[in-house]
Amino acid sequence: MNINPLAVPESYRSLSKDELNRKIRVAKEKLGKRLLILGHHYMTDEVIAHADERGDSFALAKIASRTTAEMIVFCGVHFMAETADIVTSKNQRVFIPDVNAGCFLADCARIEDVERAWAEIHEVHFFKTIPITYVNSGADMKAFCGENGGLVCTSSNAEAALQWAFERCDRVFFFPDQHLGRNTAFKMGIPLDEIILWDPDESRGGNSREKIEKARVLLWDGFCDVHQEFDTDYIDKLKTEDSSVRIIVHPECDFDVAQAADFIGSTAYIIKAIETAESGSHWAVATERNLVNRLKNSYPDKRIEIVQSYEPYCKTMAQITLASLAFQLDQLAGEKPVNQVLVEDRFVEAARTALNRMLELKI
Ligand code: SF4
Repeated sequence: MNINPLAVPESYRSLSKDELNRKIRVAKEKLGKRLLILGHHYMTDEVIAHADERGDSFALAKIASRTTAEMIVFCGVHFMAETADIVTSKNQRVFIPDVNAGCFLADCARIEDVERAWAEIHEVHFFKTIPITYVNSGADMKAFCGENGGLVCTSSNAEAALQWAFERCDRVFFFPDQHLGRNTAFKMGIPLDEIILWDPDESRGGNSREKIEKARVLLWDGFCDVHQEFDTDYIDKLKTEDSSVRIIVHPECDFDVAQAADFIGSTAYIIKAIETAESGSHWAVATERNLVNRLKNSYPDKRIEIVQSYEPYCKTMAQITLASLAFQLDQLAGEKPVNQVLVEDRFVEAARTALNRMLELKI
C-alpha cells in the first residue's frame, strides 16, 4: 500500500544535476539522524552516492531491522521498501522516491495463484511441504510463508534457506524465481528430475501426479527479465577470445548460463570476488549494468566487463533518479510524508515471522 503517492513534478525533472545534488544535501542535513537512506547496488552512481548504506537486498533488510532512524528512504524497488517496513517498528516510516519502481520478477506470482497451487500440491501429496519465497515478492507472499511454516530467502542465503527447510520436511515449494531455486537446489546435489516447474496456468502446474510425488523442489514459473538477457553463446565467445577470463554470474540467470560460469553468487558475493581478485585478472559478470560498471570503475587494475554485447539494465530500479530522490527528501524536510510504503496490518506479523526465520539463518 502506498500512502500519498506523488509523481516527481516537472519543476524537479528539469533541474540540473548540481542543483538536485545541492537540494539532496540540504534536506539530508536538515533531517539529520531522523533519516536513513538505503541504496541497492543496482542504483545509478549518482543516486547511490547519497545513500548512507548500500548493499544487496539481504544486507539492506538487516540494516533496516537494526536502524533506529525515524524515516527510511529506500533507493531500490518496492518489495525492498515493503521488507524494510515489515522489519522496522511502528513508529518508523519507510518511503520510496517513486512508487512505480516495482519488480518484474516479484510480479510473476500472485497470491491467489500461489494459494491454488499450494492446495493442488497437497491434494497429491500429504507429506510436509515448506514454502520459501525469494525476497523479490510481495508482502502477501511473505506472509503466506510465515503462516505455513516457511521462510524468505535472498540470493545470499538461498542455500541456507533450502537447508533449513530440508531439515524439517522432504519437499520445498519455491517461488517466484525458478532460476534461483533450480541453481541452488542443483548445487546442493538435488538432481534435475527431482526439481519440477509449476506453471500457474495449468492444472497441477502442468505436472503428472507421479512427477509431483517424486519432486523434492517445486519451482514457480517466474524469472527476472534482466538476468534472462545473458546467454551461453556470449560466454563461449568470451572464453574463445581469452581462456583466462573468469565468468561470474548471479543465480537469477538461467541454468545453462549458471553451469557455463566459473562462479555463481549474489551481488555481495560478486563484489567480494572481484574486490579480492588479483590485479590484472579478467572478469566477465552477468548481472545488472550499474553494478558491473561500478566495479569496472572501482577496480581499474582489473579487466571487468559484462557478459553481453549490450548492457542489460533494470528499468524499474532506474525509476529512482536524482530528481525523485531530491523531491522525496524535500517533501520529508517540509514534513510532508509522500510515497510512504505501508504493509497492510493483516500481512505484517506473518511476513515478519518468515523474514525473521531468514535473518536467523547461519550463513
Ligand atoms: S533486476 Fe530483476 S529481480 Fe532485480 S529488481 Fe530488476 S526485475 Fe526485479
